[in-house]
Amino acid sequence: MSDKITLSTWPTPLEPLPRLAAAIGLGENDLWIKRDDLIGLGGGGNKVRKLEWTVGAALAEGADTLVTTGAAQSNHARLTAAAAARLGLDVVLVFPGTPDGAAGGSGNLVLDGLFGARIHWAGDGTPSELAGAAEEVCRELAREGAHPYLIPFGGSSPLGARGYVEGGEELRTQLPDVDHVVVALGSGGTMAGLIGALGAERVLGVHCGAVAEPAATVADLAGALMGRPVVPGTLRVRTDQVGAAYGVLHEPVLEAMRTAAATEGIVLDPVYTGRAMAGLIAAVRDGDIRRGQRTVFLHTGGLPGLFGHAEAVHRSVAALRSHRSG
Ligand SMILES: *Cc1c(COP(=O)(O)O)cnc(C)c1O
Repeated sequence: MSDKITLSTWPTPLEPLPRLAAAIGLGENDLWIKRDDLIGLGGGGNKVRKLEWTVGAALAEGADTLVTTGAAQSNHARLTAAAAARLGLDVVLVFPGTPDGAAGGSGNLVLDGLFGARIHWAGDGTPSELAGAAEEVCRELAREGAHPYLIPFGGSSPLGARGYVEGGEELRTQLPDVDHVVVALGSGGTMAGLIGALGAERVLGVHCGAVAEPAATVADLAGALMGRPVVPGTLRVRTDQVGAAYGVLHEPVLEAMRTAAATEGIVLDPVYTGRAMAGLIAAVRDGDIRRGQRTVFLHTGGLPGLFGHAEAVHRSVAALRSHRSG
């Protein structure tokens, strides 16, 4: 028995992308998009499927306050805040850095504020120091008489990843003989869950630079989920779209964002889904994905993140346009 709760209406739509398929060298009927960006809570995105499990566990334990961590533009933190608002819980988001260093007043931070989240700025440090700061926030809340529940970075525990076992099963019902599912790999739980539902050979993860060892991270989560060891080397992980760094706009990503927007009216973000689409395009170029194979792009959301990096995207698009018309 599980304590899972429902935070949206399922299933999310699956739509064809014929014009984008043709533009990147696939057959018109080869490419589909699974619209988890349209999940109906807090601006949408993949983290909601995981939160149905982790927040369900928090409620079952009698929690009254959710605590989580991530980058200041974390989509997971924003959706944790939205889930807390819907359920009448308090929420504390623990971010690295300081309020003035963190592009306050843009993107996800605006929504965090609307959802009523409290933000604890932990200063600069390593990922494990940030996790330590979140644990300290929980101890402090408990001393004040609250009942905090800590949701890990990205919601990526084996429990949270169960949301994407369901997501993968949902997709298989919509498109039974899917050959490839292409997904952005951040904290790893989404890819791990999809592997649980569809098998490792059908899932292509595009590393976004959020973790040090992407294949090992996904293998650990998938192994814990399925109750048997998963060898990192058997997973399909592309690491060619990270670029200079996690927050820095990478030229193929910008090109992928422009192509998806101009052919299908689909908006991708520069941190996750733009990288995933750039990885899909690269996989078609190098023959890992071929014409005639049924390929699904999982749109994991992230639109507010675009507005957390809006200036860089705007400047690069404007520069490209003037270059091409000159
Ligand atoms: C978090 C996130 C991902 C990556 O999912 P993980 O389960 O962390 O690997 C992809 N896309 C968007 C928009 C995200 O916010």
